[in-house]
Amino acid sequence: MGKNKLILLGTKGGPVITRDGAWPTSHALVVDGKAYVIDAGLGVTRQYVQAGLTFADLEAVFITHHHSDHNLELGAFIYTAWNAAPPHPISLHGPQGLDHLMRHVLASQDFDIRIRIADEGLADPSMLISWQEFHSGEVYQDDRIRVTACKVSHPPVEECYALKIETSHKTIVFGADTCFYPPLADFAKGADILIHEAMHLGAAKQLCEQNKDIEPNLWAHFSASHTSCEDAGRIATMAECHQLVLNHFVPQIGSLVSRADYEEAVRKTYQGELIIGHDLCEIAL
Ligand SMILES: [Zn+2]
Ligand SMILES: [Zn+2]
Repeated sequence: MGKNKLILLGTKGGPVITRDGAWPTSHALVVDGKAYVIDAGLGVTRQYVQAGLTFADLEAVFITHHHSDHNLELGAFIYTAWNAAPPHPISLHGPQGLDHLMRHVLASQDFDIRIRIADEGLADPSMLISWQEFHSGEVYQDDRIRVTACKVSHPPVEECYALKIETSHKTIVFGADTCFYPPLADFAKGADILIHEAMHLGAAKQLCEQNKDIEPNLWAHFSASHTSCEDAGRIATMAECHQLVLNHFVPQIGSLVSRADYEEAVRKTYQGELIIGHDLCEIAL
């Protein structure tokens, strides 16, 4: 696992999954042989393994905000790491709510934890897994990476953070979920890679029409909380990033909207290097 790379593990926005569709949001960053996971939506555990990553190399997990398409599988992912790797510390970092989430994750598996410690000799997970809540500013630092957070605008979620990860190879900014938010361009200024969410306006309106009986307020949520392709391109142009990677597609690439539709929309406002993300897409650092 020596190569330095970014892997998009899940690239759709929202918690719903479909047959043969993309998984909700998660990413892995491999730096000097160690793995860091950013967001942990449904499917993160399977995709991490499919990407060829090993739990023994997992160092830390970062959660941008507590919408379920970004944290639903955090517990199962960490729990699997505890079962699948020699005992080593793993740290978790996220906004307010992480402590509540992790306490309940471990409490929900109290029976299994006790029985595996007694029966299989596993180490006590509470001695290995630690978690810390963060605000804007410095989040984490080790020998390989430095992580800083910038609050973005994702109403009604108050605590949602873009994350900048600096490595000796490249600087990567994860934009998290956000509406069009120019301060994100300042935060990402000059980064090598900006990963930004993308909503295709025409297709998103169609999706809202299809789902009006289940989620009657969906369009109000989309327009207040997410970023159109054109505005994602504007942020990348303002930030002068070397490469823009689109993810968190609303709607997902499929029957309503194609990769070419996304590319056409973002090209109206951004002319630089562009990757339209897909699950298990690897980007060399
Ligand atoms: Zn989301
Ligand atoms: Zn969200």
